[in-house]
Amino acid sequence: MAIDIGNPYQVAVAQFNEAADRLGLSQAMRAILCKPKRELTVNFPVRMDNDDIEMFTGYRVQHNIGRGPAKGGIRFSPEVSLDEVRALAMWMTWKCAVVNIPFGGAKGGVICDPHKLSRGELERLTRRYATEISILMGPNSDIPAPDMNTNPQIMAWMMDTFSMHQGYSVPAVITGKPLAIGGSEGRLEATARGVQFVTREAMTDLGMKPEECTAVVQGFGNVGSITARLLYELGCTVVALSDLSGGVYNPRGIDVQQALRYSKEHGSLAGLPNAESITNAELLTLPCDVLVPAALENQLTERNASRVKAHLIVEAANGPTTPEADHIFNDRGITVVPDILANAGGVTVSYFEWVQDLQRFFWAENEINNRLESIMTRAYRAVHAKAEQQETNLRMGAYLLAVATVAEATELRGVYP
Ligand code: NAD
Repeated sequence: MAIDIGNPYQVAVAQFNEAADRLGLSQAMRAILCKPKRELTVNFPVRMDNDDIEMFTGYRVQHNIGRGPAKGGIRFSPEVSLDEVRALAMWMTWKCAVVNIPFGGAKGGVICDPHKLSRGELERLTRRYATEISILMGPNSDIPAPDMNTNPQIMAWMMDTFSMHQGYSVPAVITGKPLAIGGSEGRLEATARGVQFVTREAMTDLGMKPEECTAVVQGFGNVGSITARLLYELGCTVVALSDLSGGVYNPRGIDVQQALRYSKEHGSLAGLPNAESITNAELLTLPCDVLVPAALENQLTERNASRVKAHLIVEAANGPTTPEADHIFNDRGITVVPDILANAGGVTVSYFEWVQDLQRFFWAENEINNRLESIMTRAYRAVHAKAEQQETNLRMGAYLLAVATVAEATELRGVYP
C-alpha cells in the first residue's frame, strides 16, 4: 500500500517495517512494536483574557515502555494531530534505544497557536493540559520535555502544576526545566551539541574538513539557532538560515552571532542585513556541503530531493525526510545522519537531568558535555559500523540497532500475564 507522506505516522511505520523485514521479526513482535501502547486525548477549557472560554485538544501518546519510563517532548502547534504525536512517540522509542538510555518513547502536543496567546493564556493552557495528562505523568512513568514552541518556562509551569497536586516538589517529572528548579547545565544546548558531534564524526568519515565546508540550517529555534552557532564554532561557513518567516542567504557566510541578536530583537530573521531573502523551499536546494533541517517534518520529499546539493544531511528535526526522498539521497550517494541518532543529544541530557533530580546531586557543565560527547560519538560509531556491516545507509543502521534492542527487551519481559 502506498504511504501518505503527509502522515508522519505512516512514514514512521514504513521505516519500522523496513527494519523489521531485515531483522526477520516475527509477526507478533511486529504487531507489538508498531502500535503505540497508550494514547490519551484530552479536550479541555481555558479561560481567555477577555473572559471567553475556549476549548483545546491535546494528546499524550506512549509508544513503548519496555526499556524504562516513557520520555518525549510536548509540542504546541496548530499542525499537531494524533498521527503526528504517534509518529514522534515511536521515533522517541528508537532514539532512546540508539543512544542506549533506559527510557521508552512518548510524545505530547496541544493543537494551538502559541504565538496568538498572551502569557497568561499560555500559562493557563499549559497548567490545564498538565493536569489532564497528569494521570500518565510521573518520575517513574512518563517524563515530558520541551519540543516545538515549548520552552523551559512552560516546563516550569508543568512541573509546578504536577507538584501542586502531589503536595511536594517533583522536579524529576519533567526535563528541560530552568536551572533554578532542578534543570541541568547544558540542556538548552544539548540537542544542537549532539548534532555538532555527529556532524563532526560524519565529516571525518567523508573526508570533509569543517573549515572548508559551507552549511545551511533550516529553522532558527532552540535546535536550529544553536546548531548554526556550533557549526560556525566548528569552523563551517554558515551560508543560509531560516525560520517561519523565510530564509536569509549569503554565499560568503552569515555572522551567526549577529543573526542571533537580530532574531531576538526583531522576532524573526526577516530583513537580516548583509543577506538576501529566500524562501524556505529555495533554502533546501542551495549549493552547500552540509544541510541541517531543524524545523519540522516532511521538508525533504521526492519533489525536491533530486535538487538538493548538500553532500551531508544531518537531521536535527524529527522526520524531515520522507522515505521516497531517502531513496533518492541513497541513490545519489548523499549521506543522511538520521533524526533518531542526530538529535538524540536532547533526550540524552534530559536523562542526565532526570538522574540528577532523582539523586538531588548536580553535575558541572563540562561533565555533562563530556558524557554527552562520549554517548553521541559511541552511538554514531555503532550505527556506522552496523550500516557498513549490513551494507546499508545510516538510517537503516540506526533502525536495525534500535529495533533489535527494543525487541530483545520485549522478548525478555514476555507477554503479561
Ligand atoms: P522551536 O520551536 O524552538 O523552533 C522551531 C523553528 O522552526 C523556529 O525557528 C520556527 O520559526 C521554524 N519553523 C517553523 N515552521 C517552519 C517552516 N514551515 N519552515 C521553516 N522554519 C519553520 O523548536 P525546536 O525545539 O528547535 O525543534 C525543532 C525540531 O527539532 C523539531 O522537529 C523537534 O521535534 C526537533 N527536536 C527538538 C529537540 C529539543 O530538545 N528541543 C530535541 C530533539 C528534536
